[in-house]
Amino acid sequence: MRPDTKNFKRGAAKALGNERIQANLLGLYNGFDRARLAAADGTPDWELMREQARAIKAHTIDNLDYYLELAASNVEKAGGTVFFAKDADAAAGYVTDLALARGVKLVIKGKSMVSEEMSLNERLTDAGIEPVETDLGEYIIQLAGETPYHIIAPAIHKSREEVTDLFEAKLNSPRYEEITELAAEARRQLRDKFIRADMGITGANFIVAETGTVALVTNEGNGRMCTSMPRIHVAITGMEKIIPSMDDLGIFLRLLIRSATGQRISSYVTTVTGPRHADDEDGPDEFHLVIVDNGRSRLLADPELRESLYCIRCGACLNACPVYRKVGGHAYGWVYPGPIGAIVTPVMTNLADAKDLPFASSLCGACREACPVKINIPRMLLHLRKEVTEGRKYPTERNRSVLEALAMRLWRLSLSSPAALSIANSVARVLQKPLLRKGRIRWLPPPLSGWTPSRTFPAFVRPFRQRWRG
Ligand code: SF4
Repeated sequence: MRPDTKNFKRGAAKALGNERIQANLLGLYNGFDRARLAAADGTPDWELMREQARAIKAHTIDNLDYYLELAASNVEKAGGTVFFAKDADAAAGYVTDLALARGVKLVIKGKSMVSEEMSLNERLTDAGIEPVETDLGEYIIQLAGETPYHIIAPAIHKSREEVTDLFEAKLNSPRYEEITELAAEARRQLRDKFIRADMGITGANFIVAETGTVALVTNEGNGRMCTSMPRIHVAITGMEKIIPSMDDLGIFLRLLIRSATGQRISSYVTTVTGPRHADDEDGPDEFHLVIVDNGRSRLLADPELRESLYCIRCGACLNACPVYRKVGGHAYGWVYPGPIGAIVTPVMTNLADAKDLPFASSLCGACREACPVKINIPRMLLHLRKEVTEGRKYPTERNRSVLEALAMRLWRLSLSSPAALSIANSVARVLQKPLLRKGRIRWLPPPLSGWTPSRTFPAFVRPFRQRWRG
Protein backbone atom coordinates (compact mmCIF):
# COMPACT_ATOMS: atom_id res chain seq x y z
CA MET A 1 0.00 0.00 0.00
CA ARG A 2 1.54 3.25 -1.14
CA PRO A 3 1.56 5.89 1.62
CA ASP A 4 -0.82 8.78 1.03
CA THR A 5 -0.21 10.62 4.27
CA LYS A 6 -0.19 14.20 2.95
CA ASN A 7 -3.95 14.50 2.95
CA PHE A 8 -4.91 13.74 6.53
CA LYS A 9 -7.02 16.86 6.98
CA ARG A 10 -8.90 16.31 3.74
CA GLY A 11 -9.50 12.64 4.58
CA ALA A 12 -10.66 13.53 8.08
CA ALA A 13 -13.09 16.16 6.77
CA LYS A 14 -14.49 13.61 4.29
CA ALA A 15 -15.14 11.05 7.04
CA LEU A 16 -16.62 13.69 9.36
CA GLY A 17 -19.07 14.73 6.65
CA ASN A 18 -20.20 11.17 5.97
CA GLU A 19 -23.15 10.23 8.22
CA ARG A 20 -22.99 6.56 7.25
CA ILE A 21 -19.33 6.25 8.25
CA GLN A 22 -20.01 8.14 11.48
CA ALA A 23 -22.80 5.69 12.33
CA ASN A 24 -20.61 2.68 11.49
CA LEU A 25 -17.74 4.01 13.60
CA LEU A 26 -19.99 4.09 16.67
CA GLY A 27 -19.54 0.31 16.80
CA LEU A 28 -15.93 0.79 17.87
CA TYR A 29 -17.03 2.38 21.12
CA ASN A 30 -20.25 0.49 21.74
CA GLY A 31 -18.73 -2.83 20.73
CA PHE A 32 -14.99 -3.26 21.02
CA ASP A 33 -14.09 -0.61 23.59
CA ARG A 34 -16.82 -1.56 26.08
CA ALA A 35 -16.05 -5.26 25.62
CA ARG A 36 -12.38 -4.57 26.36
CA LEU A 37 -13.22 -2.67 29.53
CA ALA A 38 -15.53 -5.47 30.69
CA ALA A 39 -12.89 -8.12 29.94
CA ALA A 40 -10.22 -6.16 31.83
CA ASP A 41 -12.59 -5.74 34.80
CA GLY A 42 -13.23 -9.46 34.83
CA THR A 43 -9.54 -10.43 34.80
CA PRO A 44 -8.14 -10.37 38.36
CA ASP A 45 -4.45 -9.96 37.43
CA TRP A 46 -5.01 -7.55 34.58
CA GLU A 47 -2.68 -4.79 35.78
CA LEU A 48 -0.02 -7.29 36.79
CA MET A 49 -0.16 -8.90 33.34
CA ARG A 50 0.18 -5.50 31.68
CA GLU A 51 3.29 -4.79 33.76
CA GLN A 52 4.74 -8.21 32.96
CA ALA A 53 4.04 -7.86 29.25
CA ARG A 54 5.66 -4.45 29.17
CA ALA A 55 8.76 -5.76 30.94
CA ILE A 56 9.00 -8.74 28.55
CA LYS A 57 8.66 -6.48 25.52
CA ALA A 58 11.22 -3.99 26.85
CA HIS A 59 13.71 -6.81 27.44
CA THR A 60 13.07 -8.40 24.03
CA ILE A 61 13.31 -5.17 22.06
CA ASP A 62 16.49 -4.20 23.93
CA ASN A 63 17.97 -7.57 22.92
CA LEU A 64 16.25 -7.89 19.56
CA ASP A 65 19.33 -9.05 17.64
CA TYR A 66 19.77 -12.00 20.03
CA TYR A 67 16.10 -13.06 19.93
CA LEU A 68 15.84 -12.68 16.14
CA GLU A 69 18.81 -14.99 15.66
CA LEU A 70 17.45 -17.45 18.21
CA ALA A 71 14.05 -17.50 16.48
CA ALA A 72 15.64 -17.90 13.04
CA SER A 73 17.88 -20.79 14.12
CA ASN A 74 14.92 -22.58 15.74
CA VAL A 75 12.73 -22.13 12.65
CA GLU A 76 15.55 -23.64 10.58
CA LYS A 77 16.03 -26.50 13.05
CA ALA A 78 12.32 -27.26 12.61
CA GLY A 79 12.83 -27.48 8.84
CA GLY A 80 11.71 -23.97 7.84
CA THR A 81 13.46 -21.23 5.89
CA VAL A 82 13.95 -17.69 7.20
CA PHE A 83 14.32 -14.57 5.10
CA PHE A 84 15.21 -11.21 6.65
CA ALA A 85 13.78 -8.45 4.45
CA LYS A 86 15.34 -5.01 4.73
CA ASP A 87 12.30 -3.34 3.24
CA ALA A 88 8.85 -3.99 1.82
CA ASP A 89 10.18 -4.35 -1.71
CA ALA A 90 12.64 -7.09 -0.72
CA ALA A 91 9.94 -8.95 1.22
CA ALA A 92 7.42 -8.77 -1.65
CA GLY A 93 10.15 -9.82 -4.09
CA TYR A 94 11.04 -12.88 -1.99
CA VAL A 95 7.44 -14.08 -1.72
CA THR A 96 6.65 -13.44 -5.40
CA ASP A 97 9.85 -15.14 -6.63
CA LEU A 98 9.15 -18.12 -4.36
CA ALA A 99 5.61 -18.42 -5.73
CA LEU A 100 6.85 -18.21 -9.34
CA ALA A 101 9.63 -20.74 -8.71
CA ARG A 102 7.13 -23.24 -7.26
CA GLY A 103 4.60 -22.77 -10.05
CA VAL A 104 1.97 -21.26 -7.74
CA LYS A 105 -1.14 -19.95 -9.49
CA LEU A 106 -3.44 -19.25 -6.53
CA VAL A 107 -2.52 -17.88 -3.09
CA ILE A 108 -4.86 -17.77 -0.10
CA LYS A 109 -4.09 -15.16 2.49
CA GLY A 110 -4.84 -14.87 6.17
CA LYS A 111 -4.93 -11.40 7.69
CA SER A 112 -1.53 -9.70 7.52
CA MET A 113 -0.95 -5.99 8.00
CA VAL A 114 2.71 -6.39 7.02
CA SER A 115 1.63 -7.75 3.63
CA GLU A 116 -0.30 -4.46 3.23
CA GLU A 117 2.98 -2.60 3.82
CA MET A 118 4.43 -4.66 0.96
CA SER A 119 1.52 -4.15 -1.49
CA LEU A 120 1.81 -7.90 -1.82
CA ASN A 121 -1.50 -8.47 -3.57
CA GLU A 122 -0.50 -6.07 -6.35
CA ARG A 123 2.93 -7.70 -6.70
CA LEU A 124 1.43 -11.18 -6.94
CA THR A 125 -1.26 -10.06 -9.38
CA ASP A 126 1.36 -8.38 -11.59
CA ALA A 127 3.25 -11.70 -11.65
CA GLY A 128 0.11 -13.53 -12.86
CA ILE A 129 -0.71 -15.09 -9.46
CA GLU A 130 -4.19 -14.74 -7.96
CA PRO A 131 -4.18 -13.64 -4.28
CA VAL A 132 -7.40 -14.20 -2.33
CA GLU A 133 -8.03 -12.74 1.11
CA THR A 134 -9.81 -15.20 3.40
CA ASP A 135 -10.46 -13.15 6.54
CA LEU A 136 -14.07 -11.99 6.05
CA GLY A 137 -13.27 -8.30 6.59
CA GLU A 138 -10.25 -8.46 4.29
CA TYR A 139 -12.30 -10.38 1.70
CA ILE A 140 -14.87 -7.57 1.69
CA ILE A 141 -12.14 -4.97 1.37
CA GLN A 142 -10.50 -6.86 -1.49
CA LEU A 143 -13.81 -7.12 -3.35
CA ALA A 144 -14.39 -3.39 -2.81
CA GLY A 145 -10.86 -2.53 -4.03
CA GLU A 146 -10.18 -0.63 -0.81
CA THR A 147 -7.57 -0.71 1.95
CA PRO A 148 -8.23 -1.83 5.57
CA TYR A 149 -9.91 0.70 7.85
CA HIS A 150 -8.84 -0.73 11.19
CA ILE A 151 -6.07 -3.03 12.46
CA ILE A 152 -8.39 -5.83 13.53
CA ALA A 153 -11.66 -4.87 11.83
CA PRO A 154 -10.71 -3.94 8.27
CA ALA A 155 -14.29 -3.43 7.05
CA ILE A 156 -15.69 -1.73 10.18
CA HIS A 157 -16.75 1.28 8.08
CA LYS A 158 -19.08 -0.80 5.93
CA SER A 159 -22.71 -1.43 6.85
CA ARG A 160 -24.57 -4.68 6.17
CA GLU A 161 -26.46 -3.00 3.30
CA GLU A 162 -23.21 -1.93 1.65
CA VAL A 163 -21.80 -5.45 1.88
CA THR A 164 -25.05 -6.80 0.41
CA ASP A 165 -24.69 -4.37 -2.52
CA LEU A 166 -21.04 -5.36 -2.94
CA PHE A 167 -21.75 -9.10 -2.95
CA GLU A 168 -24.58 -8.62 -5.41
CA ALA A 169 -22.37 -6.57 -7.76
CA LYS A 170 -19.17 -8.65 -7.51
CA LEU A 171 -20.40 -12.15 -6.74
CA ASN A 172 -23.82 -11.97 -8.37
CA SER A 173 -25.30 -13.20 -5.10
CA PRO A 174 -28.93 -12.74 -3.95
CA ARG A 175 -29.73 -9.73 -1.74
CA TYR A 176 -29.13 -11.19 1.71
CA GLU A 177 -30.82 -9.56 4.71
CA GLU A 178 -28.76 -11.23 7.43
CA ILE A 179 -25.05 -10.95 8.23
CA THR A 180 -24.92 -14.72 8.76
CA GLU A 181 -26.15 -15.22 5.17
CA LEU A 182 -23.42 -12.90 3.88
CA ALA A 183 -20.80 -14.82 5.87
CA ALA A 184 -22.14 -18.11 4.48
CA GLU A 185 -21.90 -16.74 0.93
CA ALA A 186 -18.27 -15.72 1.54
CA ARG A 187 -17.56 -19.18 2.96
CA ARG A 188 -19.08 -20.82 -0.15
CA GLN A 189 -16.98 -18.63 -2.44
CA LEU A 190 -13.77 -19.28 -0.50
CA ARG A 191 -14.11 -23.04 -0.08
CA ASP A 192 -12.97 -23.77 -3.62
CA LYS A 193 -10.05 -21.36 -3.24
CA PHE A 194 -8.86 -23.12 -0.09
CA ILE A 195 -8.94 -26.47 -1.92
CA ARG A 196 -7.11 -25.24 -5.03
CA ALA A 197 -4.49 -22.94 -3.50
CA ASP A 198 -0.81 -23.90 -3.67
CA MET A 199 0.42 -21.32 -1.19
CA GLY A 200 -0.97 -19.93 2.05
CA ILE A 201 0.29 -16.57 3.32
CA THR A 202 -0.41 -15.42 6.87
CA GLY A 203 0.82 -12.83 9.28
CA ALA A 204 2.06 -13.78 12.74
CA ASN A 205 0.73 -12.39 15.99
CA PHE A 206 3.81 -13.64 17.80
CA ILE A 207 7.02 -15.52 17.02
CA VAL A 208 8.29 -17.56 19.95
CA ALA A 209 12.08 -17.41 19.84
CA GLU A 210 12.85 -20.45 22.01
CA THR A 211 10.94 -22.81 19.68
CA GLY A 212 10.67 -20.92 16.37
CA THR A 213 6.88 -21.11 16.64
CA VAL A 214 4.46 -18.78 14.85
CA ALA A 215 1.29 -18.02 16.85
CA LEU A 216 -1.86 -16.89 15.03
CA VAL A 217 -5.09 -15.61 16.54
CA THR A 218 -8.28 -15.72 14.44
CA ASN A 219 -12.00 -16.03 14.92
CA GLU A 220 -12.90 -17.55 11.58
CA GLY A 221 -10.53 -20.48 11.30
CA ASN A 222 -9.21 -19.17 8.01
CA GLY A 223 -5.73 -18.74 9.48
CA ARG A 224 -5.57 -22.43 10.31
CA MET A 225 -6.79 -23.34 6.81
CA CYS A 226 -4.09 -21.13 5.26
CA THR A 227 -1.36 -22.73 7.36
CA SER A 228 -2.43 -26.34 6.89
CA MET A 229 -4.07 -26.85 3.47
CA PRO A 230 -1.69 -25.50 0.77
CA ARG A 231 1.65 -27.21 0.14
CA ILE A 232 3.59 -24.02 0.97
CA HIS A 233 3.04 -21.76 3.99
CA VAL A 234 4.68 -18.32 4.17
CA ALA A 235 4.37 -16.35 7.41
CA ILE A 236 5.21 -12.65 7.14
CA THR A 237 5.92 -10.61 10.24
CA GLY A 238 7.46 -7.39 11.47
CA MET A 239 10.66 -7.95 13.40
CA GLU A 240 9.10 -6.62 16.62
CA LYS A 241 6.71 -9.59 16.93
CA ILE A 242 9.33 -11.78 18.66
CA ILE A 243 8.73 -12.91 22.24
CA PRO A 244 11.21 -15.07 24.14
CA SER A 245 9.26 -18.11 25.35
CA MET A 246 6.05 -20.17 25.36
CA ASP A 247 5.37 -18.98 28.93
CA ASP A 248 5.37 -15.42 27.64
CA LEU A 249 2.93 -16.41 24.89
CA GLY A 250 0.32 -17.24 27.55
CA ILE A 251 0.45 -13.70 28.92
CA PHE A 252 0.38 -12.05 25.51
CA LEU A 253 -2.51 -14.14 24.21
CA ARG A 254 -4.66 -13.22 27.20
CA LEU A 255 -3.83 -9.52 26.81
CA LEU A 256 -4.14 -9.40 23.03
CA ILE A 257 -7.50 -11.14 22.73
CA ARG A 258 -9.16 -9.33 25.64
CA SER A 259 -7.85 -5.96 24.39
CA ALA A 260 -8.82 -6.57 20.78
CA THR A 261 -12.35 -7.98 21.03
CA GLY A 262 -13.09 -8.44 24.73
CA GLN A 263 -13.17 -12.24 24.33
CA ARG A 264 -11.49 -14.42 26.92
CA ILE A 265 -10.03 -16.49 24.10
CA SER A 266 -10.51 -16.26 20.35
CA SER A 267 -12.18 -19.08 18.43
CA TYR A 268 -8.86 -20.28 17.04
CA VAL A 269 -5.31 -19.98 18.33
CA THR A 270 -2.97 -21.71 15.91
CA THR A 271 0.70 -22.45 16.53
CA VAL A 272 2.96 -23.54 13.70
CA THR A 273 6.53 -24.79 14.07
CA GLY A 274 8.14 -25.46 10.70
CA PRO A 275 6.59 -27.53 7.89
CA ARG A 276 4.70 -30.81 8.27
CA HIS A 277 6.67 -33.44 10.13
CA ALA A 278 6.51 -37.19 9.58
CA ASP A 279 3.96 -37.79 12.35
CA ASP A 280 1.76 -34.74 11.55
CA GLU A 281 -1.70 -35.39 10.08
CA ASP A 282 -1.58 -32.29 7.92
CA GLY A 283 0.51 -29.24 7.18
CA PRO A 284 2.59 -27.79 4.36
CA ASP A 285 5.64 -29.37 2.71
CA GLU A 286 7.48 -26.04 2.95
CA PHE A 287 7.46 -23.31 5.58
CA HIS A 288 9.01 -19.86 5.11
CA LEU A 289 9.21 -17.10 7.68
CA VAL A 290 9.75 -13.58 6.29
CA ILE A 291 10.89 -11.13 8.96
CA VAL A 292 10.47 -7.55 7.79
CA ASP A 293 12.30 -4.41 8.89
CA ASN A 294 10.87 -1.73 6.56
CA GLY A 295 11.68 1.23 8.80
CA ARG A 296 11.39 -0.53 12.16
CA SER A 297 15.15 -0.13 12.67
CA ARG A 298 14.62 3.61 12.72
CA LEU A 299 12.13 3.21 15.56
CA LEU A 300 14.55 0.86 17.32
CA ALA A 301 17.42 3.33 16.99
CA ASP A 302 15.45 6.23 18.45
CA PRO A 303 15.35 5.98 22.26
CA GLU A 304 12.33 8.29 22.31
CA LEU A 305 10.30 6.10 19.93
CA ARG A 306 11.62 2.60 20.61
CA GLU A 307 8.66 1.90 22.87
CA SER A 308 6.38 1.87 19.82
CA LEU A 309 7.89 -1.53 18.95
CA TYR A 310 6.21 -3.04 22.04
CA CYS A 311 2.91 -2.83 20.12
CA ILE A 312 1.03 -6.12 19.72
CA ARG A 313 -1.47 -4.61 17.22
CA CYS A 314 -4.57 -5.22 19.31
CA GLY A 315 -6.33 -2.07 18.05
CA ALA A 316 -7.47 -1.01 21.54
CA CYS A 317 -5.89 2.45 21.24
CA LEU A 318 -7.85 3.05 18.02
CA ASN A 319 -11.16 2.10 19.67
CA ALA A 320 -10.44 4.33 22.67
CA CYS A 321 -9.23 7.33 20.66
CA PRO A 322 -11.79 10.16 20.31
CA VAL A 323 -10.03 11.32 17.13
CA TYR A 324 -9.89 7.93 15.40
CA ARG A 325 -13.53 7.28 16.29
CA LYS A 326 -14.49 10.35 14.28
CA VAL A 327 -11.99 10.52 11.40
CA GLY A 328 -11.75 6.76 10.79
CA GLY A 329 -8.89 4.78 9.30
CA HIS A 330 -8.48 5.96 5.72
CA ALA A 331 -7.62 9.53 6.72
CA TYR A 332 -4.27 8.35 8.11
CA GLY A 333 -3.22 7.30 4.60
CA TRP A 334 -1.25 4.14 5.34
CA VAL A 335 -1.49 0.69 6.88
CA TYR A 336 -1.52 1.69 10.55
CA PRO A 337 -4.11 4.26 11.62
CA GLY A 338 -5.03 5.70 15.00
CA PRO A 339 -2.73 6.73 17.85
CA ILE A 340 -0.05 4.07 17.27
CA GLY A 341 -0.23 4.72 13.53
CA ALA A 342 0.37 8.42 14.15
CA ILE A 343 3.75 7.41 15.61
CA VAL A 344 4.95 4.55 13.43
CA THR A 345 3.67 5.81 10.08
CA PRO A 346 5.68 9.07 10.01
CA VAL A 347 8.91 7.23 10.86
CA MET A 348 8.34 4.16 8.67
CA THR A 349 7.26 6.27 5.67
CA ASN A 350 8.44 9.85 6.12
CA LEU A 351 7.64 12.60 8.55
CA ALA A 352 7.68 15.34 5.93
CA ASP A 353 4.53 13.96 4.31
CA ALA A 354 2.94 12.57 7.48
CA LYS A 355 3.58 15.69 9.57
CA ASP A 356 -0.11 16.17 10.43
CA LEU A 357 -0.44 12.74 12.05
CA PRO A 358 1.31 13.47 15.38
CA PHE A 359 -1.09 16.40 15.78
CA ALA A 360 -4.17 14.20 15.26
CA SER A 361 -4.63 13.74 18.97
CA SER A 362 -6.17 15.60 21.88
CA LEU A 363 -3.48 14.03 24.14
CA CYS A 364 -6.27 12.90 26.44
CA GLY A 365 -4.31 9.75 27.30
CA ALA A 366 -7.13 7.27 26.55
CA CYS A 367 -4.78 5.34 24.23
CA ARG A 368 -2.21 4.87 26.98
CA GLU A 369 -4.91 3.72 29.41
CA ALA A 370 -6.23 1.22 26.88
CA CYS A 371 -2.89 -0.18 25.75
CA PRO A 372 -2.25 -3.66 27.18
CA VAL A 373 1.52 -3.02 27.06
CA LYS A 374 1.20 0.43 28.60
CA ILE A 375 2.85 2.18 25.69
CA ASN A 376 3.18 5.88 26.42
CA ILE A 377 1.67 7.06 23.15
CA PRO A 378 1.04 10.71 24.18
CA ARG A 379 4.71 11.15 25.12
CA MET A 380 5.85 9.91 21.71
CA LEU A 381 3.29 12.07 19.91
CA LEU A 382 4.70 15.10 21.71
CA HIS A 383 8.21 14.05 20.73
CA LEU A 384 7.20 13.81 17.07
CA ARG A 385 5.44 17.18 17.24
CA LYS A 386 8.75 18.61 18.44
CA GLU A 387 10.47 16.91 15.52
CA VAL A 388 7.95 18.45 13.12
CA THR A 389 8.61 21.94 14.47
CA GLU A 390 12.34 21.67 15.18
CA GLY A 391 13.34 18.89 12.78
CA ARG A 392 16.50 17.61 14.38
CA LYS A 393 16.24 13.97 13.36
CA TYR A 394 13.46 13.92 10.78
CA PRO A 395 13.68 17.21 8.86
CA THR A 396 10.44 18.38 7.26
CA GLU A 397 9.74 21.36 5.06
CA ARG A 398 7.47 22.63 7.81
CA ASN A 399 10.21 22.91 10.40
CA ARG A 400 10.04 26.11 12.33
CA SER A 401 10.53 29.28 10.33
CA VAL A 402 13.16 31.86 11.36
CA LEU A 403 10.36 34.19 12.47
CA GLU A 404 8.72 31.51 14.60
CA ALA A 405 12.08 30.54 16.12
CA LEU A 406 12.69 34.22 16.99
CA ALA A 407 9.20 34.57 18.50
CA MET A 408 9.72 31.46 20.62
CA ARG A 409 13.10 32.72 21.82
CA LEU A 410 11.59 36.07 22.85
CA TRP A 411 8.73 34.23 24.55
CA ARG A 412 11.19 32.10 26.53
CA LEU A 413 13.23 35.18 27.46
CA SER A 414 10.13 37.01 28.67
CA LEU A 415 9.20 34.11 30.93
CA SER A 416 12.70 33.77 32.39
CA SER A 417 12.13 36.19 35.35
CA PRO A 418 9.39 38.42 36.83
CA ALA A 419 11.29 41.51 35.67
CA ALA A 420 11.56 40.23 32.09
CA LEU A 421 7.86 39.36 32.07
CA SER A 422 6.98 42.83 33.33
CA ILE A 423 9.07 44.50 30.61
CA ALA A 424 7.59 42.25 27.90
CA ASN A 425 4.10 43.04 29.13
CA SER A 426 4.74 46.79 29.03
CA VAL A 427 6.10 46.57 25.46
CA ALA A 428 3.15 44.43 24.33
CA ARG A 429 0.63 46.89 25.83
CA VAL A 430 2.16 49.72 23.80
CA LEU A 431 2.37 47.67 20.56
CA GLN A 432 -1.21 46.42 20.75
CA LYS A 433 -2.79 49.90 20.97
CA PRO A 434 -3.54 50.32 17.20
CA LEU A 435 -5.24 46.88 17.17
CA LEU A 436 -7.43 47.24 20.29
CA ARG A 437 -11.22 47.43 19.90
CA LYS A 438 -13.24 47.48 23.15
CA GLY A 439 -10.50 45.68 25.05
CA ARG A 440 -10.11 42.86 22.49
CA ILE A 441 -7.90 42.28 19.48
CA ARG A 442 -10.14 41.20 16.62
CA TRP A 443 -7.59 41.33 13.81
CA LEU A 444 -3.90 40.48 13.72
CA PRO A 445 -1.55 41.17 10.80
CA PRO A 446 0.38 38.33 9.07
CA PRO A 447 2.02 36.05 10.12
CA LEU A 448 -0.35 35.94 13.12
CA SER A 449 -3.49 36.50 11.06
CA GLY A 450 -4.46 32.80 11.22
CA TRP A 451 -5.64 33.29 14.80
CA THR A 452 -8.23 36.02 14.41
CA PRO A 453 -10.73 34.97 11.68
CA SER A 454 -12.50 32.69 14.15
CA ARG A 455 -11.26 33.92 17.57
CA THR A 456 -10.57 37.22 19.22
CA PHE A 457 -7.25 37.67 20.96
CA PRO A 458 -7.35 38.78 24.61
CA ALA A 459 -5.62 42.10 25.16
CA PHE A 460 -2.51 42.42 27.33
CA VAL A 461 -3.51 44.15 30.58
CA ARG A 462 -1.73 45.66 33.58
CA PRO A 463 -0.24 42.79 35.59
CA PHE A 464 -1.85 41.85 38.89
CA ARG A 465 1.22 42.88 40.91
CA GLN A 466 1.12 46.45 39.55
CA ARG A 467 -2.60 46.69 40.23
CA TRP A 468 -2.11 45.41 43.76
CA ARG A 469 0.47 48.06 44.42
CA GLY A 470 -2.09 50.62 43.18
S1 SF4 B 1 -0.29 0.71 20.86
FE1 SF4 B 1 -1.08 -0.63 22.47
S2 SF4 B 1 -3.31 -0.39 22.30
FE2 SF4 B 1 -2.46 0.38 20.37
S3 SF4 B 1 -2.50 -1.36 18.96
FE3 SF4 B 1 -0.48 -1.35 19.94
S4 SF4 B 1 -0.67 -2.70 21.72
FE4 SF4 B 1 -2.75 -2.21 21.07
